[in-house]
Parts: sequence; structure tokens; C-alpha cells
Amino acid sequence: MIQIYLPLHFLGFVYREIKHSLADMEKMFGLLEVNAEVKDKPGAPDLRVNAGEIRFEHVDFAYEPRRQILFDVSFVVPPGRTMAVVGHSGAGKSTLSRLLFRFYDVTGGRILIDGQDIREVTQKSLRAAIGIVPQDTVLFNDTIYYNIAYGRPDASREEVIAAARAAHIHDFIESLPDKYDTLVGERGLKLSGGEKQRVAIARAVLKNPKILIFDEATSALDSKSEKAIQAELKRIAENRTTLVIAHRLSTVVDADRILVMDHGRIVESGTHRELLERDGLYAHMWALQQQEDIDGLKPAAAVV
Ligand code: ATP
Repeated sequence: MIQIYLPLHFLGFVYREIKHSLADMEKMFGLLEVNAEVKDKPGAPDLRVNAGEIRFEHVDFAYEPRRQILFDVSFVVPPGRTMAVVGHSGAGKSTLSRLLFRFYDVTGGRILIDGQDIREVTQKSLRAAIGIVPQDTVLFNDTIYYNIAYGRPDASREEVIAAARAAHIHDFIESLPDKYDTLVGERGLKLSGGEKQRVAIARAVLKNPKILIFDEATSALDSKSEKAIQAELKRIAENRTTLVIAHRLSTVVDADRILVMDHGRIVESGTHRELLERDGLYAHMWALQQQEDIDGLKPAAAVV
């Protein structure tokens, strides 16, 4: 009996892990299916991450052959720096993060991490090097502990709690009747947008990656939560190469560099101050946001 039970039990475990990972990745990227086209080359080596430089070289991309989404996109994020990407909805911002995580392969040009073309290395090693705080965090129907530990399943309880503290969600968890054993997800306690993003930040802290992608939530959080999340993000972005996909301008003022995208092209880049002086698209979007703040038309400045 035990001989049958053990393999079945093991298979059940494997199935659960695979289902969880796939659900997470799909939802994380808003994909309906994982792209089977992306495969490891036979004998591909692991990515060797040293300083953590990200380099896009003349990247073209189309999800479908007849509709090109990115055109000749080139930029470098130096090790440890933060690059923010802004632009109107549909400009191609989140597509950059999907390509960096290699959910799709570029149709032209190349993406390098520390000088290695990401198509030449194993997907597993690539994804291990990158932490993502996605737009909409997926919570599994499991405990909040499981949901945080998912960032690094072999982490100790102390490490999970330290990550929750760093993401400023520990006190909230401790205030719940079942504490870390509280069931969350669709069938458990519903968490707010800000709380879910904190779970994602805790996962990323636990994973401790050299490269971090923060895909800002499109649905605006209240301004107090937004400020708190930004402060936490700033702390965990220290000494990591960070790409912030910003759907609001308020996030990007402190970035080392800002890329402004329009219809799949980079049309401007610089610091917040440089871009204001340039008086182009960014300055226009900024002025619009200021005006909306003054008019009080929108609670959070959502212009992009
Ligand atoms: P937002 O600020 O609204 O999130 P974005 O700048 O991040 O927008 P992307 O999500 O990168 O925009 O999308 C860029 C373009 O690619 C859009 O026109 C979108 O319709 C298209 N697109 C995104 N995902 C897919 C997909 N899986 N298949 C086909 N087209 C897609």
C-alpha cells in the first residue's frame, strides 16, 4: 500500500507545484498560455550573474507577425541602478519586462544580462536571477506563510518572517486570528491591493535577486499605501538593478534614469529634471498630472 501511496503522493505534490507555478507566471504576465516557442538551447549553460547589468540592443518585437509592438529599443541599466519606463497605456512598457523574463523571444536585436544573450542560457537560471513584483499579485489558496515562502521554498521560518517585516506586512499578519496560518486567496481572506503587493515584495525580498522588476499596479492604490509601497520598494531596490514599469508618473521622480515610450519606441530618456527641461512628451504628461492634481479630478495622479 505504502509503495503505491508514496509515488501518488509525490505526483500530487509535483502536480500542485507545477500548477501553482504556471498559474503564477500566466497571471503575473497576463498571459493566457505559456509560450511553448521559448525553449532552452541544447546544452545551454546557466546565466552567470555578476554585477547585474541589463542591456537591450535594437530590440524589435511582435506578439503576432502582423503587428509590431517594439521598434529598435536600446537601453542599458547599469548594475545597481534604477530605470523607470513611462508612457501612455499600450506603449509597450510591460512588454519589456515579459521579454527580459523571456516569456517571449525578441524578433530582432538582443537582450543581454552581464554580457550574456538571454536566449543562450537556461530559462531556469535566468528566472532565478530576476525577482518580479507584478501588477496583479496572484495569491494561492493557501496560507499567507506559503504565499510568501513561495519566493524561495527552502527558506527557513525566520527568513520568511524577516522578509514579511522588510515588506511591512508582518504586523498586519500578526494581527490576524490565525497569524501566518491564515488562509488567503479566492477561498480565504481577501487582501487589499496594497497588501497583495506587499506579499509580492516579501516574496522578492526572500528570493534576493540581483535584478528586480517592479511592474506597478495599474489600479491606483490610495496615496498613503502608494507612498509606503514606494518607500519599501526603494529600500529593496538598493544594490539591485531595477526596472520599474510605471503606470503613474509619481513613482519615477527619483529614478536614476527614465525612458519615455510612445507607440513601441523610446522617444526620450533622462532624469526627471532633464526631461522637464526638454519640454517634450514627459514634460507634457507631467504638466497634465499637475493640473489634474490641482483640479482634484483624480485621487491619485494617473495620467499614463
Ligand atoms: P499599460 O500601461 O496599459 O499596462 P503597456 O505600455 O504596459 O500598457 P503592454 O502591455 O506592453 O503596454 O502592451 C503593448 C501592446 O501589446 C498593446 O497594444 C497590447 O495590446 C499588445 N499586447 C500585449 N500583450 C499581448 C499579447 N499577449 N498578445 C497580443 N498583443 C499583446
